Amino acid sequence: NSILEIEGLTVKYKTRYGTVHALSNVSFSVKKGSIVGIIGESGSGKSTLGHTILRTLPENARIESGKIMFEGSDLLEIDEEVFRREFRWKKISMIFQNSMNAFSPVHRIQDQLLDVARKCFPNKSRNELLEIIKEKLRIANIDESVLKKYPHELSGGQRQRVAIGMALLADPEIVIADEPTTGLDVVTQYQILNRLKEIQKDLGITLLLITHDVSVVAALSTDVLVLYAGKVLEYGDIK
Ligand code: ADP
Ligand code: ADP
Repeated sequence: NSILEIEGLTVKYKTRYGTVHALSNVSFSVKKGSIVGIIGESGSGKSTLGHTILRTLPENARIESGKIMFEGSDLLEIDEEVFRREFRWKKISMIFQNSMNAFSPVHRIQDQLLDVARKCFPNKSRNELLEIIKEKLRIANIDESVLKKYPHELSGGQRQRVAIGMALLADPEIVIADEPTTGLDVVTQYQILNRLKEIQKDLGITLLLITHDVSVVAALSTDVLVLYAGKVLEYGDIK
C-alpha cells in the first residue's frame, strides 16, 4: 500500500553555464505511514526532489520526464491551479530548511499563520482559524504566546516548531521535512526530531525526511533513500 510512487523522474536546471542534471531517472515508492530518510551529500538532489513533489521548483528547472503518482493521479499532470488549491499544503506539505526564510520578518507569527490558514480553509472564520492554529502549535509542542511575537524574537528551535505547526495546519497526508533541525543545538535537534516522530505516528502521516545527517536517519526512519549525484544509490527499509 504505497501512498506515493515516483517513476523515472529526471529534473534539470538551466544555467548560463549549461545544464545541471539534478535528478536522473529517480524511482521509488513510499509506503503509507513510513518515514523515508532521504540522504545524500550536498548537491545530490534532495531538495530538488522535495520541490518537484510540491511543484515549487524555481523557474530555471525543467522536469524532463517521470511521474509522481499520488491517489491514482500523476501530480505532474495536474493543472497548476488545481494543484495549488487542492494539493499543495493541504495533502502534501513541507517544513522548510531554514524557517527564518519561511517567515516574513515584518509580520507577527499570528498574522502569518492566519494567512496560510485562510488559504487552507477559505470558509472558516478568524476565530475558527485561530483555534486550528493553536491546536497545531500544541501538537508541535510550542506555547501559543509565540503568536504575538515576530520571527526574530523566537529562538531557532521555536521557529522550527512553528514551521512544523504550519505544515500541519490542513492535516496533510504527506509532510516533507527539508533538513528540519539543521543549525540547531544537539539537545533541541533531539527534542524536535522526537516530537516529529510522535506526530508522524499519532497523526498517521507519511514523512519524507531530507537530511545530510545519517544519525537522524538512523534514529527516525523506517526506510532510506540514498541519492548520489541525482541518482538513487540505494533504497530499502532499515529494520
Ligand atoms: P541537495 O538538496 O542534495 O543539496 P539540490 O537539489 O539542492 O541538492 O541540488 C542538486 C543539484 O542541482 C546541485 O548540483 C545544485 O547545484 C543544482 N541546483 C539546485 N538548485 C539550482 C538552481 N536553482 N539553479 C541551478 N542549479 C541548481
Ligand atoms: P501563493 O500565495 O502564491 O498561492 P502558497 O499558497 O503556496 O502561494 O503560499 C505562499 C507561501 O506560504 C509559501 O511559499 C510557503 O512559504 C507558505 N505556506 C503556505 N502554506 C503553507 C503550509 N501549510 N506550510 C508551510 N508553508 C506554507
